[in-house]
Amino acid sequence: MKPKLETLAIHAGSEIDSATKAVTSPIHLSTTFEREADGSFPQGYIYTRSHNPNRAALEHCITALEGGAASTAFSSGSAAASTVFRALKPGEHAIIPDDMYWGIRKLLKQVFVPWGLELSEVDMSNLAEVRAAIKPNTRLIWIETPSNPMLKITDIAEVVKLAKKVGAKVACDNTWTPPGMQPVFELGADMVMHASTKYLAGHSDVLGGTLTTREKDAFWEQIVFIQKNEGAVPSPFDCWLTLRGIKTLPYRMRGHVENAEAIAQFLNEHPKVERVSYPGLTSHSNHEVAKKQMTSFGAMLSVQLKSGEEAAMKLAAGLKLFTRATSLGGVESLIEHRASIEGPDSKTPKNLLRMSVGLEHKDDLIADLEQALEAV
Ligand SMILES: *Cc1c(COP(=O)(O)O)cnc(C)c1O
Repeated sequence: MKPKLETLAIHAGSEIDSATKAVTSPIHLSTTFEREADGSFPQGYIYTRSHNPNRAALEHCITALEGGAASTAFSSGSAAASTVFRALKPGEHAIIPDDMYWGIRKLLKQVFVPWGLELSEVDMSNLAEVRAAIKPNTRLIWIETPSNPMLKITDIAEVVKLAKKVGAKVACDNTWTPPGMQPVFELGADMVMHASTKYLAGHSDVLGGTLTTREKDAFWEQIVFIQKNEGAVPSPFDCWLTLRGIKTLPYRMRGHVENAEAIAQFLNEHPKVERVSYPGLTSHSNHEVAKKQMTSFGAMLSVQLKSGEEAAMKLAAGLKLFTRATSLGGVESLIEHRASIEGPDSKTPKNLLRMSVGLEHKDDLIADLEQALEAV
C-alpha cells in the first residue's frame, strides 16, 4: 500500500543521520564537497548550487507528496514560476489567466514579452476563451485555480485536452491548493508549482518555491539546467525549515479549511456583504467544477462590501485577530486590500478584501469579523 499524505509528509525526505544518528536531519551549510582520490563524488554532492543534501531532501518530499517524477526547489515561488517560462524559446506562445498572481504577470509582461515571449491573457474559467487563444506555436498554458484574488475556477482536465491538441504543456500554480487538495497530475497536467513560502512552509518565516514534473523530459531537463546554473536556489536552512513545516501540512490544512468554510458561510449571510468568493459556496459560479477537481475548497477567500472601498478599509482596520498584511498560508489570519498593493492598473474591485484564514479558533475569528462589520 502506498503511504498516505500524512505519513509521506513526515517521512519522505527525512532519514536518521547515519553519522550521528540524529533523528532530525542536520543542516549542511558546506558549499563544497570532497572528491575521492579517483576524482569521483560517491555521495553525488559537488557544489551546493547544483546539489545540497537539505535541498535534495525537500525535493524528494515534494515529489512524493505530489506523486510526480522529480522536483526542483527555488529561492522563491516567483523564481520557480519564471524558470518555467524561461525554458520556452523566443517566439513561443504561452497562455495565462487574466486573474493570477500579479507579480508573475508583471514579470512576464515587463521582462519576458520584450525578450520574445508571445503571451495571451484569457479568462480561463471560460473554456471558449482558452480554445480561441490557442495557436500552432502555443507551448505552455499556465493555470492558477482558484485564482488570485477573484477565486475563479479553471477546469483543469478540459484545458489539458485543449493543450494536448497542439502539444502544449500545462503547468499549475497550486500555491493555494497544497498537495492532496487538487491532484493536477491525475487531471493530466504536466507540472505543478508551489510558492512554498505559503502553506508548505506554513509559518510566514521562509521564502521558497518548488516545481514538480509528471515526467522527466527535455523541457524538464532545461528547467533543471536553469535552476542549477542560475542558482536561484533556497539556502540549506530554508530547505530545512520548509521540510519541517511540511510535516504538519496535512493537519494544518484541515484546520485552515474548516475555519475558511465557516467564515465563508458567515460572511455570505451578512447584510453588509455584497459578495463572497469561495469555491466551496454553492453560490460560486463554478462550484461544480471545483467540486469535481478539488478534494477540499481551500482556505483563501475574498469578500466584497456593499458600501465600497471605504467600508472595506474600515473593516480591515477594525479587526483585531486578522493582521493587515500581504501573503498567505501561515498559521495566523491575514487580510489584505488587494487593489492598493496591485497599484493603479489593477483590475481588482476596490471594495474587495482577500483573506488568508489561519488556525485560530473559528468562533474567535467570526466574533472578530462580527464586531468589525458592526462598525462599518
Ligand atoms: C506568493 C505567491 C507566488 C509567489 O511566491 P513568492 O515566494 O512570493 O515569490 C506565486 N503564486 C501564488 C499563487 C502566490 O500566492
